[in-house]
Amino acid sequence: MVELGWDESADVVVIGGGGAGLRAGLAAAKAGADVLLLEKMEHPGGKTAMSIGIITASETSYQKKAKVKDSHAKHFADLAAMAKAAGQPMDVPATKFMIRECSKEIDALNAMGVRFTGPHPEGPHGTPRMHVIQPDCRAMAEILIRTCKRAGVRIACNMPGAELVLDHRGHVVGVRSDGPDGPRRIQASAVVLAAGDYSANTALVRKVAPKLKLAEPLRAFATGDGHGMAMRIGAATRNMSRVNTPQMRFPDWPHVEPSPGLVGAGAKLVTRKGERIRTKLDESVLLPGFEDRWEDIFIVIDRDTAAKLAKASDDVGPGRDGWVRTGKPFIGTAPKVGYAYLDDCRDWSWHREARTLTAAAKHIGCTAAALEKTLGPKSEGPFHLLGPVRRVIANSGGGVSTDFKLNVVSTEGAPIKGLYGAGVNARLISFMGGHGYAFAWAMASGRIAGTNAAEYAESVRR
Ligand SMILES: Cc1cc2nc3c(=O)[nH]c(=O)nc-3n(C[C@H](O)[C@H](O)[C@H](O)COP(=O)(O)OP(=O)(O)OC[C@H]3O[C@@H](n4cnc5c(N)ncnc54)[C@H](O)[C@@H]3O)c2cc1C
Repeated sequence: MVELGWDESADVVVIGGGGAGLRAGLAAAKAGADVLLLEKMEHPGGKTAMSIGIITASETSYQKKAKVKDSHAKHFADLAAMAKAAGQPMDVPATKFMIRECSKEIDALNAMGVRFTGPHPEGPHGTPRMHVIQPDCRAMAEILIRTCKRAGVRIACNMPGAELVLDHRGHVVGVRSDGPDGPRRIQASAVVLAAGDYSANTALVRKVAPKLKLAEPLRAFATGDGHGMAMRIGAATRNMSRVNTPQMRFPDWPHVEPSPGLVGAGAKLVTRKGERIRTKLDESVLLPGFEDRWEDIFIVIDRDTAAKLAKASDDVGPGRDGWVRTGKPFIGTAPKVGYAYLDDCRDWSWHREARTLTAAAKHIGCTAAALEKTLGPKSEGPFHLLGPVRRVIANSGGGVSTDFKLNVVSTEGAPIKGLYGAGVNARLISFMGGHGYAFAWAMASGRIAGTNAAEYAESVRR
């Protein structure tokens, strides 16, 4: 029932329609709640739909089928070793919780019709744990959206959540949304914040990570709205200074981060003017030599360099293990394949093969003379041109503090009644080594937050 002063009502309102929000909406609806999901963009999906789609998980049905012996305890031991090597403190209960809950999401997504390949080997993990979504996260997000709608979740796009509404006790009882038709006040028994990261909120990034070398955000919608709403009502935060260091990424799909090994094998980084970016081969956080550059770059791979890269024929299958066994460089981790080789790039818009140097220069937009000077006289075609690639901040790592029920906690340490958090909006852990946890965390935390929000909403109704 909509009470006086409210425009609309739902048992659970979810703010944000990326992986965490959709998963939260689905879990809340399955637990019996009437759910309204607010998404500020024209279409849900968020960064989840742009993701490479790697989940690092243990004790999965895919591992069992492949007769890979693994356990959460072994997984934890590998992460503990990575934390030690990185000199990072580890929150033991939170890490164990995360390993267990994230791993469950493989089977949960599978039951919705999402498929994976794997487990693939991925160092420094001692056991194959890499599961890769098929065919990609865009398709996965559509499955999630469809499943939500079937479960009765109402999805309202172009409807940004703007402020949380509190009652006299400080309990969250609704949301103000500033949509195209003006502000709307939505009554809710519980709210789940799942509005993604703050990498595009430059003012906030400057404040929490003043020493970070800036770069443009990969996507402008990541303005940390959920963090802001929670902080304004007194929520505590964790690890806000952890904003990802700028990385090289292809701004067009798929948003692969090129492997630094390419430069070691002889690939050249070339600007649109044909100028070469000099490299320091011992640096690996960014593709070396790119730390202060913001412009479009092309990675030029000539015939000799191409011969030094890993190929599908190096694999013993079914996983992409050629690069592990031979130590040859790969292009980067990529949707569908996990580890991409040069031939995989032929399917993507940012790859071109040019038979001659003149054709390569034309594609880059420079003169043949400039490119020849950069590549040197011995460089021969065919040339593979990967680009443009740019220096971007892809994500941020801090979140609103929660307990293990994903109930948001205040700066005084008490749970804020009626408020839950999920995905990159809410972070429980301080360190996860390697990659493949952020996506799975979005799913696992969404499930937990949505279920608990529905349970809380039910208790408020009673
Ligand atoms: C290029 C790339 C590749 C990645 N690859 C991997 C990978 O392979 N494995 C892995 O584990 N992780 C990966 N990640 C990270 C992972 O995808 C994300 O951390 C995770 O999917 C985030 O999910 P989320 O739901 O929390 O946020 P998002 O998916 O970003 O969703 C947030 C949603 O909230 C909406 N929103 C924002 N503000 C508001 C508001 N005020 N009101 C309403 N809606 C709002 C946004 O529009 C968006 O739809 C990758 C990230 C990127 C960028």
